[in-house]
Amino acid sequence: MATTLIPEVSLLDSIFASCRDMAQDPEFSVAKRWLEQHPGRKAIGCFPVYCPVELIHASGMLPLGVIGAGNQIEITFADSRFQSFVCSIVKSTLELGLTNRLNFLEGLLFHSICDPARNLSSVFQRNFPNLFVEYIHFPQNFASPLARQYLAREYRRILDGLEQRSGHAPTTEDLNRSLGLYNQVRSALRVIYRIRTETPHLISAAESFVLTRAGTLMAPEDFLNLLDQVLRELPTRPVKPKDRIRVVLEGSFCELPPIGLIETLEQAGCYILDDDFLRGWRWFTEDVPIGDHPLAALAESYSERAYYSGTKHDSRESKAEHLIRLAREKKADAVVFQAAKFCEPALFDYALYRKALEEAKIPHLLLEFEEKTWSFDRVRSEAETFVESLLFD
Ligand code: SF4
Repeated sequence: MATTLIPEVSLLDSIFASCRDMAQDPEFSVAKRWLEQHPGRKAIGCFPVYCPVELIHASGMLPLGVIGAGNQIEITFADSRFQSFVCSIVKSTLELGLTNRLNFLEGLLFHSICDPARNLSSVFQRNFPNLFVEYIHFPQNFASPLARQYLAREYRRILDGLEQRSGHAPTTEDLNRSLGLYNQVRSALRVIYRIRTETPHLISAAESFVLTRAGTLMAPEDFLNLLDQVLRELPTRPVKPKDRIRVVLEGSFCELPPIGLIETLEQAGCYILDDDFLRGWRWFTEDVPIGDHPLAALAESYSERAYYSGTKHDSRESKAEHLIRLAREKKADAVVFQAAKFCEPALFDYALYRKALEEAKIPHLLLEFEEKTWSFDRVRSEAETFVESLLFD
């Protein structure tokens, strides 16, 4: 009798599979379980891109990434609150609220990335009067030293509101403990990204994407344990490099692309060495300093130690120059610009990127996506043609 060999599932494979389930769970099951196990604690949702999660954590509450619903729910009610030409994440995030999936949250934080996000914040305020809804105004002129002072005051304002909801006024030690914890999380993610750049066959972009997304949906202490496991296992993962082109991916800093889209791009022959997925949850290039003035340190880090982003207006280096420098640093063969449909910050930037990439003679490919993209055949054929044009040039 013929025996069927069942392939062994490695620890890494099972971690990435469970992260994928979490990433696609519109019910926030892991967070709800955590809240049940920690009676009296509350959760605050964070809309992308960047949210100062340390303020929420130090207030004794759980920061959670509320980043749309992917292709997991139908849009039934949210369409009536927004125009048709608005990105998917805005509608699906509102749909999560209107279908009572966010009832377990104490509040939601938004910030100044674009008009749709600003409007979404107002729509939540009107439709959910009991929810703590705050809108963080980030500074735009980082050349001015006043920007940091202003931002530290803005953080104080948010922290005061959080205190009222949690009933806990964080001390300097509380804030520093949260800064230290998230420093560890971001540092581990930076190592994972470095491993991807140096040995992209060891962890795919889709895997690091679901891992990072899962981290936005659980307590940071638990996420840190998960990251430790991944970092222990990765170096000895038995996978061989493939003949692929090396690309840097840009433009997906807010709305999350479907996992299948990232996988399609990789299967079409791309090693994605770097990307801006979930950029806000990996915001800092170095640790935030721990000291006597944690809010000032966090504000200074936003200005001086943050990755560039399509939604951060930093005139000290143009975004196009930065992208070209990044592509060269990573020794990328090409740039893939993957933007959400109707995402103005990303698509406006693309015009500048395209000109600069052409002048620098760096090949590039533009792909647009929506959360609800199900079929990737067109993307597969475009990406394969692009890859072949580079491999057989
Ligand atoms: S996807 Fe783009 S347009 Fe939509 S909320 Fe995010 S930044 Fe704004």
